[in-house]
Amino acid sequence: SDRPIARALLSVSDKTGLIDFARALSERGVALVSTGGTAKAIAEAGLKVDDVSALTGFPEMMDGRVKTLHPKVHGGLLAIRGDAGHEGSMAEHAIVPIDLLVVNLYPFEAALARKADYDDMVENIDVGGPAMIRGASKNHAFVTVVVEPADYDAVLAEMDANGGATTFALRKRLAAKAFSRTAAYDAAIGTWLSGEAGDETPAFAALGGTLAQGLRYGENPHQRAAFYRTAGSRFGVATAKQLQGKELSYNNINDTDAAYELAGEFDPAKAAACVIVKHANPCGVAEGSSLVEAYERALACDPVSAFGGIVALNRPLDAEAARKIVEIFTEVIIAPEADEEARAIVAAKKNLRLLVAGGLPDPRAKGLAVRTVAGGFLVQSRDDATVDDLELKVVTKRTPSERELADMRFAFKVAKHVKSNAIVYAKDGATVGVGAGQMSRVDSARIAARKALDAAAAAGLSEPLTRGSVVASDAFFPFADGLDAAIEAGATAVIQPGGSVRDDEVIARADEAGLAMVFTGVRHFRH
Ligand code: 5GP
Repeated sequence: SDRPIARALLSVSDKTGLIDFARALSERGVALVSTGGTAKAIAEAGLKVDDVSALTGFPEMMDGRVKTLHPKVHGGLLAIRGDAGHEGSMAEHAIVPIDLLVVNLYPFEAALARKADYDDMVENIDVGGPAMIRGASKNHAFVTVVVEPADYDAVLAEMDANGGATTFALRKRLAAKAFSRTAAYDAAIGTWLSGEAGDETPAFAALGGTLAQGLRYGENPHQRAAFYRTAGSRFGVATAKQLQGKELSYNNINDTDAAYELAGEFDPAKAAACVIVKHANPCGVAEGSSLVEAYERALACDPVSAFGGIVALNRPLDAEAARKIVEIFTEVIIAPEADEEARAIVAAKKNLRLLVAGGLPDPRAKGLAVRTVAGGFLVQSRDDATVDDLELKVVTKRTPSERELADMRFAFKVAKHVKSNAIVYAKDGATVGVGAGQMSRVDSARIAARKALDAAAAAGLSEPLTRGSVVASDAFFPFADGLDAAIEAGATAVIQPGGSVRDDEVIARADEAGLAMVFTGVRHFRH
């Protein structure tokens, strides 16, 4: 059960709220131990406090570089309470338990902000503080750790409600915060120091990754870049093994990721699927009874754009598909696996990169998506919604046929992976027109239809491939004009999130044209 807090170690650079907190702890019978400056501030407020050097039997030394780095401190933080061995060590070495650790670190970030000189920056690297924080956080089963004044009140409130103890729930939450704090602190130091060393790429480690591979350059040759892998990575480009081909570039990795994430949307037990990506957008996606069929159908959507593309497959690459794919210039092939014969066929193309990921990315997996903005970064949970899990609401007079429904699901999966505004036409499990990245939805619809016309002309067909297709939109149609473009192109059914103030107008237009339309209730913006 939770033990009352009997001893607290306080060592803070930011002394905001310190005295009030120390007094409140003192009033609750908590013994206070502190480092030099902190102890001085507490004593000056008339409170009883022991100096940490009295505890360790060592003076603070080397300008404060060594003050709490001692077994009496770390033993008191790390000992497992109630464990015979640990209790024995404590008794033998006269180590007393420390139940509450209150630390905020040397203000490294503030020194960075005021552009302190090199030596000043180095002196602002806290060593003992993070060590104690990590020890206390590891032992959160027993120890409460507080790394910012904002949490002082929560600790006092719990102590008052629980006979002087905190709850495991709070200790766990505070420990999580504490590890995030030391990680961010070290990331700031690493970023600063690597800049001083003339290398900025490790700065990205601030996001918590380990270097997977240095890259020759970034999106453009004058940009430096590196590839990091995060812990617990899902199957994907970061876990893939490159079997052959030139070194992957920044753009290759980004495009391969886009392609393989989309390939993961298609259950390999149901059908083979192929995705071809250019500039992070799919230019052709198709299912088939075999990979080669899926590839040929995906290629037919936009054979011009597919040149120099990335090909992602949802089943192990086989010889038949490999033979077909190597016929045109392709940058990367990624698949869960590749059989011996397929590998041998690809080997004839020395530069072609072949990646095997070991498995498919799970579209439903939880995870974080991060992007930088000037002076910070944005974090969001990844878009883990998949249309197979959604209840589709028919909003038109006409109900879609089974074939239309299957194509609508297919098209909506693709639209999720197309940069907004996304419009995707599909027919018989293959895209026939993709409109990506336009500032107006109606432009995306027109571009997609235009591309379908081009593809039909290239294939020597008199009809645009959008005739009798379905159309998916990543977000609602704000006006009926986006729908008009789809009607003109010959689409017979529409899948879209719905939710516009003009939904009624859009539905009426669909009814007029005899279209079937379903609402997903879920939007798939991707920028
Ligand atoms: P004080 O103002 O109490 O003298 O120092 C408090 C600061 O010292 C806190 O920011 C704490 O993280 C840091 N600190 C505590 N122990 C050590 C240590 O052993 N080495 C270093 N470099 N910093 C420490």
